[in-house]
Amino acid sequence: MENKLKKLKTRLIEIDDLHGAAALLYWDQATYMPPGGASARGRQMATLERLAHEKFTDPVIGNLLEELRPYEESLSYDSNEASLIRVTRREYEKAVKVPPAFTEKFSVHSSASYEVWTNARPANDFAAVRPYLQKTLDLSRQLADFFPGYEHIADPLIDFADYGMKASTLRSLFDELRKQLVPMVEALTAQPAADDSCLRQTFPEKQQLAFGLEIIKRLGYDFQRGRQDKTPHPFMTKFSLGDVRITTRVQENDLREALFGAMHEAGHALYEQGICEEFEGTPLADGASAGVHESQSRLWENLVGRSRAFWQFFYTKLQDVFPDQLKAVSLETFYRAINKVERSLIRTAADEVTYNLHVMIRFGLELELLEGNLTVADLPDAWRERYRRNLGIASENDRDGVMQDMHWFSSTIGGKFQGYTLGNIMGAQFYEVALRAHPEILDEMKGGQFGTLLNWLKENIYQHGYKYTAAELVERITGGPLRIEPYVHYLGKKFGELYRL
Ligand code: ZN
Repeated sequence: MENKLKKLKTRLIEIDDLHGAAALLYWDQATYMPPGGASARGRQMATLERLAHEKFTDPVIGNLLEELRPYEESLSYDSNEASLIRVTRREYEKAVKVPPAFTEKFSVHSSASYEVWTNARPANDFAAVRPYLQKTLDLSRQLADFFPGYEHIADPLIDFADYGMKASTLRSLFDELRKQLVPMVEALTAQPAADDSCLRQTFPEKQQLAFGLEIIKRLGYDFQRGRQDKTPHPFMTKFSLGDVRITTRVQENDLREALFGAMHEAGHALYEQGICEEFEGTPLADGASAGVHESQSRLWENLVGRSRAFWQFFYTKLQDVFPDQLKAVSLETFYRAINKVERSLIRTAADEVTYNLHVMIRFGLELELLEGNLTVADLPDAWRERYRRNLGIASENDRDGVMQDMHWFSSTIGGKFQGYTLGNIMGAQFYEVALRAHPEILDEMKGGQFGTLLNWLKENIYQHGYKYTAAELVERITGGPLRIEPYVHYLGKKFGELYRL
């Protein structure tokens, strides 16, 4: 049996090598590749992904998994070996349902669609992306239909990113959250707005980048096993557990973009860098779900990075880097500025309170598109209508409307947005438990130390990689299911105090 497990692992590592190579090609495309490389690069990545898919769906893998079943049953559920077999089988059973030719077709289409979008968005040209989006919708529906028996057509697509989640569960969870958030936004935006002009001065790129690096180093990001480069649309990627990279973008006229973006991506990377080394090259060397991943990026970016305790340490350092801009700005003014609540158009720049309303709009539109209750042609207006209704503001153009996020232009329609809000909910649940176990975390933070928090996260979340599902992690850590209360409580307390409500 140990021999069979070894055989399985050898094959899985080869497949992971192909994924790693494809990820490196993508990283290069998004950072340094000259534009002329685009069409060949799309093909090259598609070839690698097809080979990986073929290798993974090879019946030899299925046979090995079958033969290993009694061995798996002889081990405890929590053991690394049993988990590897269990998780690989789950992924295998999903993968064999999708024909390799389809995977390749989708990959080629996604690259082409992404290229068109990168030009169409600045030109505000929705007509240019419309046929691509239509094809993406058709392909997304086809992909879902490889998994017959679903309750909602979005379910298989949601399941890829957030295993075990369904449209119906998410709908009621999000309805409940929306009921709490809408009045909170009303109350907060009825107060005098915070003054964030201190953040909108000129901050040279070089100093911004250096300061961001200093912060994420202190958070615990390991530069021996990672690096940061510039890109138009920041992301985290991994080629192995020893090479977990992040990307960033800088706006010289807004301090927030690079600063909080770096903490966000570093949060994703801390998670991946913390995965148990024994999992290297196997399906276990991954995050538990999109939601759990986002719980970590948002935890470091917001629960830590937008807290008063954090800036009690870092603010004087920031003032030293930008004396002309910030010497006369108090810590309190700065803290209020980085936590300004406002009805805004762009999801990635939204404050903590309104952020989820942006996500839920996209989630709802995805469901309607997949159901056939909304056409691609009507999408831009539906977007505006939903923004007006939920956020009280809407973009006249499509650049800052329906075309603002890359997701629908580089992947499926369906399953792409729920993870952000799930992450906010889970992040608050996890953080509450961590603070209860180690109240000293806040005092450490005031001294620029994050070791206790990082170790707690490693111990409880990071090391496990893909071994446990999101629901299992939440249960193990909090002793119960996913709950919105800690998140709503956190927002109410923080912003109630900030806006003196
Ligand atoms: Zn993220």
